[in-house]
Amino acid sequence: MKLSDSVGCLAGVGKVRQGYLEKLGIYTIKDLLYHFPRAYQNKKDVKTLKEALDFGENCAMILTVGSYPKNVVLPGNKILTKFTAYDESGKITVSFFNQAYIKEAIKLGEAYRFWGRITRKNSTYFLSSPDFEPYKEDCFLPDYSPVYSLTNGITQKIMFMLVGLALMNVSDFEDPIPESIRREKGLMSLREAMVSIHRPENYDMLDRARKRFVFEELYIYALCINFSKNKSILSKGLPMNKVDISPLLSSFKFELTPAQKRSVNEIYSDMVKSDKPMTRLLSGDVGSGKTACAECAAYIALKNGYQVCIMAPTEILASQHYNEMKKIFDPLGFNTALLTGSLSQAQKNKIRKDIKDGVARLIVGTHALITDETIFKDLGLVITDEQHRFGVSQRSKLGQKSKGVHTLVMTATPIPRSLALIIYGELSLSIIDTMPEGRIPIETYIVTESRRNGLYGFMEQEIKKGRQIYVVCPSIEERSEDERGEVLDATFKPGDRFQRKLKSAVQYASMLQDVFPNFRIGLVHGKMKAKEKADVMKAFSEGSIDVLVSTTVIEVGVNVPNASVMVVENAECYGLAALHQLRGRVGRGRNKSYCFLVSDVADKSSAKERLTVLKNSNNGYEIAEYDLKQRGPGEYFSNDGGSIKQSGEFGFSLASMCEDLDTLADIFSTACAVLQDDSDLLKDENRASLEYMSRIFSYKNNIIN
Ligand code: ADP
Ligand code: MG
Repeated sequence: MKLSDSVGCLAGVGKVRQGYLEKLGIYTIKDLLYHFPRAYQNKKDVKTLKEALDFGENCAMILTVGSYPKNVVLPGNKILTKFTAYDESGKITVSFFNQAYIKEAIKLGEAYRFWGRITRKNSTYFLSSPDFEPYKEDCFLPDYSPVYSLTNGITQKIMFMLVGLALMNVSDFEDPIPESIRREKGLMSLREAMVSIHRPENYDMLDRARKRFVFEELYIYALCINFSKNKSILSKGLPMNKVDISPLLSSFKFELTPAQKRSVNEIYSDMVKSDKPMTRLLSGDVGSGKTACAECAAYIALKNGYQVCIMAPTEILASQHYNEMKKIFDPLGFNTALLTGSLSQAQKNKIRKDIKDGVARLIVGTHALITDETIFKDLGLVITDEQHRFGVSQRSKLGQKSKGVHTLVMTATPIPRSLALIIYGELSLSIIDTMPEGRIPIETYIVTESRRNGLYGFMEQEIKKGRQIYVVCPSIEERSEDERGEVLDATFKPGDRFQRKLKSAVQYASMLQDVFPNFRIGLVHGKMKAKEKADVMKAFSEGSIDVLVSTTVIEVGVNVPNASVMVVENAECYGLAALHQLRGRVGRGRNKSYCFLVSDVADKSSAKERLTVLKNSNNGYEIAEYDLKQRGPGEYFSNDGGSIKQSGEFGFSLASMCEDLDTLADIFSTACAVLQDDSDLLKDENRASLEYMSRIFSYKNNIIN
């Protein structure tokens, strides 16, 4: 069996089950094996019944069965299986529902390792539907059991079994990390790491497996970035002459801030130097005024007789840019056009023709439309407004579209310079680190559970003033597997005791409706269909929803100036950078805006200290520096609140565990060295990594042509 084979090849996977697996994004054996556990049950830490009772959460216990299991039929034909079990500290009743076979599986007088949470009814203690496995004095039982993300029709047991089959049957684990690198860095092979991440024998093996996958994800990512970079740098930049930009500046209603001026100068000097095309990243917090800088860049290229293209990630943003720029550039004599998916085919054809003929000079559109099939007459500058963290793929696609084209990428994620230098390598960097004057800063408060009612009171007042509110929750709905108790988060370390009770958007919305029966509560989350999401967002931006409860998927670039309050539940779950990003959704209008970070652990010193940084600063760069020091660079690859996963662009799953900059820098320099030696990755040892790149980044077309 090969990694690329369909999951349909596995025994036990028929058409129906295959359909379920596809819902989890699992099509091939490789997908299945890369569906890493999202958590592990720590069964190593065995507690006595007495300790387990005090612990009050899921834990492992070694108990001896003290009575024959009995099946009782309950009303509704449910079968209850019951028996007693004991250890030296006490005795409990173990029960199972509708699992009649348990009666045969459990033997009187034998010991089992159980996993579950003890509950109490009157004076009797119960262990209800625990996991269990036979235990003998010297038998080997792994310390950690995997817990997978599931979907309807796929249980933990099925997932466990399928993964086991795949691990057993795959004959060739083609490793994307060449052996020489693995040896040098002391990394597990792909096969070893797969076994250890799905079936960790102990924490040490699990940890080594994760280190390897962290390395792998970042290594492949680094290869992708540097692969395209090397290509685009080969050509010379299209020549540009000096231009007087004062006509443009006088059409602005404001004077550029010093940070904007500095950025524009940097852009300008890149463009008039023609030894290589500009590849510059313009980084600036939301609202820092990146658009004005982009307009200056566009003006320089337009004046030099080139077409300019501006790409935005969503239609809303593209239209926003278009409306603003048309007002500025049409009067200056540059025909501005908009190309988005909602145009009719005839309109699209017409605009594409204008672009090809060079009639349209400044073209604004969505990434997808422009990269796919648009042909330019004399494109000189491409500006990409990403709004999210690392949109490498579009950047590189355009770099190849036409030689010598200058590129400017705008990102709204404040990223510390030290990190940017590693990730973006030779991409030059302009940072707008101060805001235009006159902004009303957002007031931030940390709220503990005990003050929740006060928060609702405040929300009520704001709504009565006609304002709107965002509430962000970390999860969509209570996960059914978690009803049996909390499990360890997949990112836990020994000693951590995770017990997060995460607020779920679905339940929260219905609860809020009870709190505010007269207000209009909306709900939006990642599992809704695109159309449903768009409808809710539209209703919110039109003001027909008062409170929008959502997971972190709030669409990129949504701009609702009337929203004045952001409430983040379980604020301790997020990186500061992500929280700052969420906070940036408010404070866009004329009204004073507020951000409430709700956390029931906000009084614990570490959480409090972190959240206080946010309370005290509105400067994204300051916050990012602090976050980088505290949590390491992995935060930037995590999916909390970020848009990497949501944009569907990257499949980082463990990279968020990268703990320090040195490790990250080492991975990137390893990747660069590999490319130096084999720039097209044609050597045998690099074949598998090329394959991974195309898979993860949908790079296939780029790489092959
Ligand atoms: P972002 O960096 O998030 O893209 P924008 O470019 O959209 O920010 O700018 C946000 C707002 O600030 C816009 O309304 C813009 O007109 C305004 N703005 C930009 N630069 C300045 C400035 N130097 N002084 C005052 N207002 C400015
Ligand atoms: Mg912008």
